[in-house]
Amino acid sequence: MKSVILPVGSTEQHGPHLPLGTDSLIAQRLCEALAAELKIDSVPVLKYGVSFEHADFPGTISIQPETLLRTVKGICESLLERYQRVIIINTHGGNTATLRNLKNEKTTFIDLFDSLIEIIADIRETEIGGICHACEIETSLMLYLEPSLVRREKITDEIVKYVTPLDPQSERQLPDGWKTINYSKSGVIGDPRKATPQKGEKIFKALIREIIKSIK
Ligand SMILES: [Zn+2]
Repeated sequence: MKSVILPVGSTEQHGPHLPLGTDSLIAQRLCEALAAELKIDSVPVLKYGVSFEHADFPGTISIQPETLLRTVKGICESLLERYQRVIIINTHGGNTATLRNLKNEKTTFIDLFDSLIEIIADIRETEIGGICHACEIETSLMLYLEPSLVRREKITDEIVKYVTPLDPQSERQLPDGWKTINYSKSGVIGDPRKATPQKGEKIFKALIREIIKSIK
C-alpha cells in the first residue's frame, strides 16, 4: 500500500523568542524524517490552522475550523488519486478537535500531543505548568531543528506556571474558549528557560519512534 504523509501546522505567535511558523516547521521536519524512515513520500506542510486563541498577538493568522476541515479533505482527495493512504500529522493543538475525526480506511490522523504525553514524562525538567506553548518542549525542538530562528536573548522570565490545565500532563481540564492573552503577557505559556537542543533531539527522535509505532 503506497502511503503519503501530510503535515499540518499553523501560523501563530510563539512568544518573543520563536518564529510564527514554529508548528509548521516542526511538522515539516518531523514528516520528512518519518517519510525517510518509512521510505514513503511526504508533501509540503499546510501552514494555516485554527489559532483563534492567539488572535490578540500580532502575526497570528487563523482560518475557521470548517475551512481547515474542507482544505485538508480536499488535499487528501487529491493525494488519494495517486496514493492508497494519507497519514495526516498535526502539530498544533488548536487543529486537533477539527481533524480528529478524519479517520477512515484511507486516512490516518496522528496528533503530536498523543505521542508527546508518553515521551515528555521522562524528558521534562519543569514541573506541571512548564509545558504548553513556546515552552520547554517547543523551544527545545526549535533549538535542535533550527537554532538560527530562536532568539535566545528574548527567552523571558515570564513563566505561567499557574496555568496548569494547559499542560498536557495536567489532569485538570482545558477551559473551553481559552485565550492566551488571559494567561500570558509575552505569549509564552510554560518555561522555555529549561529548553536545550539536546532535549529537542531526544524529543524529536522519540516522537519518530512513537509515531511509527502508532502508524503500523
Ligand atoms: Zn506551537
